[in-house]
Amino acid sequence: MSDASTTARSGILLVEDDPRVSGSLVRGLGEAGYVVSVTATLGEAHAQLDSQTPALVILDLGLPDGDGVQVLRRLRQEGARVPVIILTARDSVVQRVAGLDEGADDYLAKPFSFPELLARVRARLRTARQEAEAFVLQVGDLEIDRLARRVRRGGRGIELTAREFDLLAYLAANAGFPVSRDMLTRDVWHVSSRATSMDKIIDVHMSHLREKLEGGSDRRLIHTLRGIGFMLSETAP
Ligand code: CA
Repeated sequence: MSDASTTARSGILLVEDDPRVSGSLVRGLGEAGYVVSVTATLGEAHAQLDSQTPALVILDLGLPDGDGVQVLRRLRQEGARVPVIILTARDSVVQRVAGLDEGADDYLAKPFSFPELLARVRARLRTARQEAEAFVLQVGDLEIDRLARRVRRGGRGIELTAREFDLLAYLAANAGFPVSRDMLTRDVWHVSSRATSMDKIIDVHMSHLREKLEGGSDRRLIHTLRGIGFMLSETAP
C-alpha cells in the first residue's frame, strides 16, 4: 500500500461474512460490470489490502474476527482516499455517525435495495475519479500527483525531497507563467522577507530539481527567466 504506483488499483473489495449477502452482491455488481473480490474476515481484508488498493470498499462492520471499522481506520491512517461504503445491520444513529467520523463516505443499513447500493457505488467512484484528476498536474510528459506526492516523467518515477516536490508543484500550478524568487520565498519556503541567502537556497534546490527532472534529456522543463525568475513549460519561452 505504501507505493500505489506498483500496486494495481482496480475493482471493488467487499468485506462481508454473510455468504448470502456477498453472493448476491458479487452477482449484481458483476452484472453491472464491476470486478469484485470478497473477503469474509478482518484478517483476509488486511491481507488483501497489503497487495492491492481497490477502487472502492464495501464494508460490513460485524465480522467474525473483529469490527470492520478497523479496515476503514487503516485505510485512512495510510492516507488512502479509497471511497468506503459501510454496510451493516446496525442501524443506530450513534454507529452511523461513528462510521462517518472514521472517514466512511457512505452508509447503508441492511436490508438495503441493490439498485440503491449500485447507485451509491457509481456516485462514489465518480467523485473519487474527479478528486483524483483534480490533484494531478500535467506538463508535457511530466505528471505530478499532489495527493500521493508522486512525480513521473515519461512514465518513469522520480524521487524528490519534500522541498523539491513543493517547489515543483508550485511551478506546475503556475505552468506557463513566470514565478519570481519572491513568490518562491513566500509560498514555498514560507519566509516573509527575502534575503540574499534565500536566493542561494532557491538556486541549489532548483539545480537539484532540474538534474532529477531533466537528467540526460535535452527536453528542458524549467526555464530561467533572467531578472524575473523561473518558468515551468514544455516549450522554451
Ligand atoms: Ca456480518
